Amino acid sequence: MVVTRFAPSPNGSLHLGHALSAIVSHDLARGPNGRFLVRIEDIDGPRSRPELADEFRRDLAWLGLEWEEVPAQSTRLDTYHAAAQRLLHDGLLYPCTCTRKQIEALQPRIGPEGLVYPGTCKGRLLDPAKPAALRLDVERAMAQVGEVVWEDAVAGTQIADPRESGDVVIVRKDTPASYHLAATIDDAADGVTLVTRGQDLFHASHVHRVLQALLGLPVPRWHHHGLLVDEGGAKLAKRRNSPSLADRRKAGEDGLLLAEQLRLHKFPAGISLASAYI
Ligand SMILES: [Zn+2]
Repeated sequence: MVVTRFAPSPNGSLHLGHALSAIVSHDLARGPNGRFLVRIEDIDGPRSRPELADEFRRDLAWLGLEWEEVPAQSTRLDTYHAAAQRLLHDGLLYPCTCTRKQIEALQPRIGPEGLVYPGTCKGRLLDPAKPAALRLDVERAMAQVGEVVWEDAVAGTQIADPRESGDVVIVRKDTPASYHLAATIDDAADGVTLVTRGQDLFHASHVHRVLQALLGLPVPRWHHHGLLVDEGGAKLAKRRNSPSLADRRKAGEDGLLLAEQLRLHKFPAGISLASAYI
């Protein structure tokens, strides 16, 4: 049985890149026992706009996709909190009060998620009176789990090594989870067996595989797909003003036809796939 999911965040409209991602996920679950799930990742604080979830459902239906919707992230805050407490109790997380500005001032190296946290608060909180996030002590986590591997359907077997991303945030200052913790727990809770997402999140799977080992969660397989980019090679993102699926739908464009073209890798002018494989 193949269970995949598409998990959009309602902080902006969906665009063509999301459509491709949803179609890849949907089609990989198309066998006789396949299930394609949709989960709304709505814990982005004030940036979350719950009304967009309805727009997403209309967009996906317009593309001709059928899905099962599973609980949104906002319903699972207690589960995230419990998991984080367990990691904290095991000495694998440490509080960090640093602001982005404070981290930038240290001129840290740049990793796949941007600035790599230089560990200022490890052992001694910089500013105990301020709100704290919880970060993964990645060295300690690696020492605990030892060598674990994960399987990407396209890139093959990977040895999990999240050190490139550094001590990532597991619990944000404003939410009892981060993307890493919430997505890992959700995929296990929803019974996802094949995690699909863009190659821009390949590094995150190293982190998630280690979290699975630390929390005793089942291990899925992964499929990282290529990304749609514009003429300048920039990823199509919500903030870049690429026409949204809702705009296209409301303008009377044929969603089924668009979905078929995306499947055939026929993209609108100026848009291409950043990687040879998908
Ligand atoms: Zn800090």
